[in-house]
Amino acid sequence: MCSGCQARRDWLLINHGRNVWVCCRCGDQWLEPEISRADFDALIGTPDVTNYPSVEQALTALGFDGAFAGIYLK
Ligand SMILES: [Zn+2]
Repeated sequence: MCSGCQARRDWLLINHGRNVWVCCRCGDQWLEPEISRADFDALIGTPDVTNYPSVEQALTALGFDGAFAGIYLK
């Protein structure tokens, strides 16, 4: 559960090296040590790839910069 807004889903997962970060729609982010790289790969499968110049630009483009705080999007 997000400590910022109590959301329980609709998160963005970001993998960097061995670490997986969870990003919430409210803008909160946290390192999730219980999700391994193998878990991440199994969850993601074979994704459509979109490259962004920076993580911040990706968060904005995908709606995880706080603009949709409190909203679950399908
Ligand atoms: Zn949140």
